[in-house]
Amino acid sequence: MAFEGLTERLQKAFSGLRRKGKVSESDVRDAMREIRLALLEADVNFNVVKDFVKTVRTKAVGKEVLDSLTPSQQIIKIVHDELVKVMGESAVPLNTAPHIPTIIMMVGLQGAGKTTTAGKLASRLIKQEKARPLMIAADVYRPAAVDQLVTIGQQLSVPVFEMGTDHDPVEIVRQGLAQAEANKNDYVIIDTAGRLEIDEQLMNELSRIQELAHPNEILLVVDAMTGQVATQVAEGFNKQLDLTGVVLTKLDGDTRGGAALSIRAVTGKPIKFVGQGEKLDQLDIFYPDRMADRILGMGDMMTLIEKAQTDYDAKQAEDMAQKIRENSFDFNDFVEQMSQLENMGPLDDLMKMVPGMANNPALKNVKMDPKDIDHLKAIVYSMTPAEREDPELLNPSRRRRIAAGSGRNVQEVNRMIKQFKQSREMMQKMSKGNFAGMENLFGS
Ligand code: GDP
Repeated sequence: MAFEGLTERLQKAFSGLRRKGKVSESDVRDAMREIRLALLEADVNFNVVKDFVKTVRTKAVGKEVLDSLTPSQQIIKIVHDELVKVMGESAVPLNTAPHIPTIIMMVGLQGAGKTTTAGKLASRLIKQEKARPLMIAADVYRPAAVDQLVTIGQQLSVPVFEMGTDHDPVEIVRQGLAQAEANKNDYVIIDTAGRLEIDEQLMNELSRIQELAHPNEILLVVDAMTGQVATQVAEGFNKQLDLTGVVLTKLDGDTRGGAALSIRAVTGKPIKFVGQGEKLDQLDIFYPDRMADRILGMGDMMTLIEKAQTDYDAKQAEDMAQKIRENSFDFNDFVEQMSQLENMGPLDDLMKMVPGMANNPALKNVKMDPKDIDHLKAIVYSMTPAEREDPELLNPSRRRRIAAGSGRNVQEVNRMIKQFKQSREMMQKMSKGNFAGMENLFGS
């Protein structure tokens, strides 16, 4: 899982501070040493680590922090804010052209995920803007690249311009652009060739395509799993092309964090998107603050909420938040949330986005089974309306009746009621705000 080691080590550094109550300068020094090692081990660029630790240390030993009532929380916040800053502060949107088409050129090493990301981007543009993109297959060296793009195009009903593998890629792009012009496509996504490593011939070809097409975006696709190498690759491409942004792929894998934390600082180019799976809808906007939350093990609540909201209207979400705050969240809401969850994708992925869950050792081997949700629902549906609203009513005889009615056994009913109470308690804590609620997440 992404950032696992980094998150664990950072949390360890923080729990060291938390144990102290009153924090001294030397405690901060110890914590900084841990943070420094954690970042280096996560394959973050050395200079980035050096600057990061220096800034955090200076801010953390400030009088107002050390003398405050909650020094450890304030230091966590400083680390969080600094992580956000290193990754670029805020999300950077795609550049668009004043006149159609907007031209997006995908570049990167072989296997980084260019072709897949080209498709993901097209899919995203169609969903969000009802766009009419054209994709151009200009990778004539990797044997299956053209076919791969054509297949993706068929899946998405997006036209793909291709001339096989026997033509000069620059010529393919020229003719592809003419077709886009004629068909009034609003976006053109050019899939270019990669190599196993940067070489001059590749760079020349990409420069020629850049000169011809004047892309509004040149997106470098890099594999997050390659850590520092990804940063070096980014530097290499950035020297020769006018990169406008980076797409970090395979963040669903067990990447250590080095690429996410170094690329912006080293190249000055924003990470615009992250790939989080092989499917064509698994491309997300890169939000530095959410990524910092995730690295700190605070989960990725915003992404979770956004996912929920694809099928969930804002009013409903606000009602739910209100219920959580007031602690009037009941079994009806529980079932409703479970149904929402079912529509949102694999449960174990989602669970990892919940604050405090990402590195919860209890979850390491958990595989959530959709059948479990059906069982939970069956149990709730066997309750009377009054019971659904008030779990305190559920005495042993009622539990036996519910078990019989739902076809589950009493132990399961008991377990479910306990889980419900625990999750209600946890949601309430979380709803009290990021940092106040976090205390328990970093507990030792
Ligand atoms: P290209 O050579 O740069 O065009 O790379 P491809 O698009 O062919 O991708 C190489 C492999 O990486 C394929 O098996 C993709 O399915 C996979 N891949 C691409 N993006 C992601 C991602 O975000 N997550 C995961 N897990 N796999 C990805």
